[in-house]
Amino acid sequence: MADGSSSDPGSLTATVAIVGGGASGTLTALNILRASRDPNLRIVLFDADPGRHHLGVAYGTTDERHLLNLRALMMSAFPDEPDHFATWARRADPRWGPTDFLPRMMYGRYLRDLVRELGGDRLRVVSVRVEDVITLEGGFEVVTDGPGATAFVRHVVLAPGVADPPRLRTAEGEPVPDARWHQPTPWDLAALAGVAEDAAVVIVGSGLTAVDVALTLLEESPRRRVCMVSRGGELPKAHLDEMPGEWAVPIPSGALTADGLATLVRGQIALAKEQGVNWRAVVDGIRPHSQSIWRRLDESQRRRFLAEYVRTWLRHRNRMAPAVAARIGTFIAAGRLTVHDGGLRSVADLGERCRVRLAETTLEADTVVNCTGPMTDITRTIDPLLRSLLDRGTIGPDSLGLGMACTELGEVIARGGRIVPGMYVVGPPSIGTVWEAISVPEIRNQTARLAEHLTGPVSGHPPSVPVGGRDIWPGAAR
Ligand SMILES: Cc1cc2nc3c(=O)[nH]c(=O)nc-3n(C[C@H](O)[C@H](O)[C@H](O)COP(=O)(O)OP(=O)(O)OC[C@H]3O[C@@H](n4cnc5c(N)ncnc54)[C@H](O)[C@@H]3O)c2cc1C
Repeated sequence: MADGSSSDPGSLTATVAIVGGGASGTLTALNILRASRDPNLRIVLFDADPGRHHLGVAYGTTDERHLLNLRALMMSAFPDEPDHFATWARRADPRWGPTDFLPRMMYGRYLRDLVRELGGDRLRVVSVRVEDVITLEGGFEVVTDGPGATAFVRHVVLAPGVADPPRLRTAEGEPVPDARWHQPTPWDLAALAGVAEDAAVVIVGSGLTAVDVALTLLEESPRRRVCMVSRGGELPKAHLDEMPGEWAVPIPSGALTADGLATLVRGQIALAKEQGVNWRAVVDGIRPHSQSIWRRLDESQRRRFLAEYVRTWLRHRNRMAPAVAARIGTFIAAGRLTVHDGGLRSVADLGERCRVRLAETTLEADTVVNCTGPMTDITRTIDPLLRSLLDRGTIGPDSLGLGMACTELGEVIARGGRIVPGMYVVGPPSIGTVWEAISVPEIRNQTARLAEHLTGPVSGHPPSVPVGGRDIWPGAAR
């Protein structure tokens, strides 16, 4: 294949197999390649989605209006070179500055550029689905759906990423029928393109993915209308154009409680306001402490946080880029986008269309899109690999049902509590243990730590990765 990938692993022997080639798997590969000077290192990265190698769900969008929800200066692939992405972006297009919110597609180009830069003979990308990983003496056999495809490896890093949303249900728990008008996953842009030009669309969910979908639908056709519905009926907050300043939050030492943290954050926001500092600086000031805070909440406090505070926290923490917020505001003002609380009360199949009852209104819709967020309960997975690993007890759910049981380093914990030596998990499936493993700043830190563990401490500073960019995104539109 033109990108150096292949669909036939044949019989491979490698040091590390990475399962999943979205941002998490790619950042794992990049950080290992950068940390290791061993010419004999061999990484094989398996990705089932040939069109989206290194992009995954988030950066595989082809809609340039889908912007990063973090400024360029937060998005480097390497924790110790924080300017790396911003420098790359400026070389790609000098109009981009470090505090800008760039198209997500561009971040995908960055990751692909880095793979070209660092990959060489030491990285092989294979376009197949991994169906099983079998523990052997001193390593693993990776079984794929490719022809005669097996790999024997010392270490396996699972990076299966974001699952599709769970089946859409009404607030009373009734499943929404499978029908032509029902779009069960929000990340299928081809399906969105098939929505009629004058369609009335119901989006279930009101987070950042729902915002993406609304933008695509409403920008593409001036005759479409969107009704967004969620339990709380609240959109994510927006970033400001300017940086919100800095605010150091005095996190107490020792054990913490969810209520205590909420009181602390409210107090800090009030104090910041008195001093003319925006609340966003307080929220951003907590971000570097998130993992340590999570560690110091016992299980009952984690549950309390999830039950009481998580939605408010995520709405303030995962913010819309200013340009996105402005467009959404325009659609609301024009009456083309409405946002409702109270969830879906009922959905009746009318054949080509459906009738949707909300708390305060009933409407007929041409399409219903499920933007309720990824399914996190891995015990309900239909993914063949996860199913096999679960059935054999090689992996198990974490105690909160947010993903896979693992240590803070990402070592997989088998059912029964034993660490599986040599098997790791990175990215979203590890959030039950580390909490912050969803966005790039945390994923790249996680993968850099894992890289150091797998390759040994780096002697001296790892080599700087040359910044490409110039030929990668010529004349990028803004
Ligand atoms: C829509 C969206 C926008 C986001 N925007 C931002 C942002 O602006 N900034 C930010 O910091 N974070 C953002 N995030 C969060 C974060 O960056 C993503 O969650 C992250 O990209 C997750 O990547 P991933 O590799 O873990 O998962 P995915 O993107 O889901 O990729 C997983 C890949 O693994 C493959 N795979 C899975 N199982 C197998 C298997 N058995 N064999 C072979 N291949 C397999 C899949 O086909 C897929 O290609 C966003 C997330 C989403 C969903």
